Amino acid sequence: MSNPYSLEGKTALITGASRGLGWATARAMAEAGAHVALNGRDPKTLAVRADELAAAGYAASVAAFDVADPEAAGAGLAAAADRQGGIDILVSNAGINHREPLETYSVEDWRRIIDTNLTAYFVLARDAGRGMVERGWGRIIVTGSIMGQIARPGLPAYVAAKGGVHALTRALAAELGPKGVTCNAIAPGYIATEMTAPLAADPEFDAMVKRRAPLGRWGRPEEIGAAAVFLASDAASYVNGHVLTVDGGLTAVL
Ligand code: NDP
Repeated sequence: MSNPYSLEGKTALITGASRGLGWATARAMAEAGAHVALNGRDPKTLAVRADELAAAGYAASVAAFDVADPEAAGAGLAAAADRQGGIDILVSNAGINHREPLETYSVEDWRRIIDTNLTAYFVLARDAGRGMVERGWGRIIVTGSIMGQIARPGLPAYVAAKGGVHALTRALAAELGPKGVTCNAIAPGYIATEMTAPLAADPEFDAMVKRRAPLGRWGRPEEIGAAAVFLASDAASYVNGHVLTVDGGLTAVL
């Protein structure tokens, strides 16, 4: 019987794959058999990552571009698609954060976060979606957040962008589903990465995460990679427009 979780023969473009959740997702998808095109802004870091995967016997290439620049993103995506004969799976995961009280939060910072964490997701889904629709099969996976469902102070743009990503997931599912392309989001809770390092280093915050999450710990990046492999695979063939929360149960309890 064929393995419904296999990604053999598929090409996945993963944004923000130089570290953190994107890198864990790239590794998991490569292990599941996909060719992974690694995106980030620094080609040198990505080349090291691609070499690491190749040394382990997996297929990987570099697709360096700034997702917040729509022209660069369109061209980078097209180049990766040409090289690999199409992008079957898009994982829009690149993201940034800016923590500052509302009173002093600038419009520039608001725009920067929205451009990278929301507008880029729309642009890449639109552009990658065209090829997927032509081939009649595709998977779009976007990284949301529990901050798209609940909020904390000091993150207005991030919370708004992630809420937008969850809504965009449903919009894409509605429009692309009839054409053979599914779109789902993953909403991670607190996962130990560079982005959350300042939070993990704060003893009060660290204790809050361990107290609030019924599993009593932070999440590991590979736990997001596993969810992404599921959503990309045939095992998730009837899952569409869903936001899959992966937070150790943090938002399930009070
Ligand atoms: P990291 O800071 O560890 O990694 C962010 C990644 O995004 C890097 O690979 C970075 O690459 C890339 N990136 C940032 N800006 C751009 C850009 N303009 N163009 C291309 N790549 C870019 O963050 P995480 O791995 O923690 O976060 C990944 C995603 O998960 C984000 O969307 C984040 O909001 C979300 N998330 C994370 C949570 C967590 O607890 N860690 C919780 C909920 C959601 P480079 O700098 O090399 O360009």
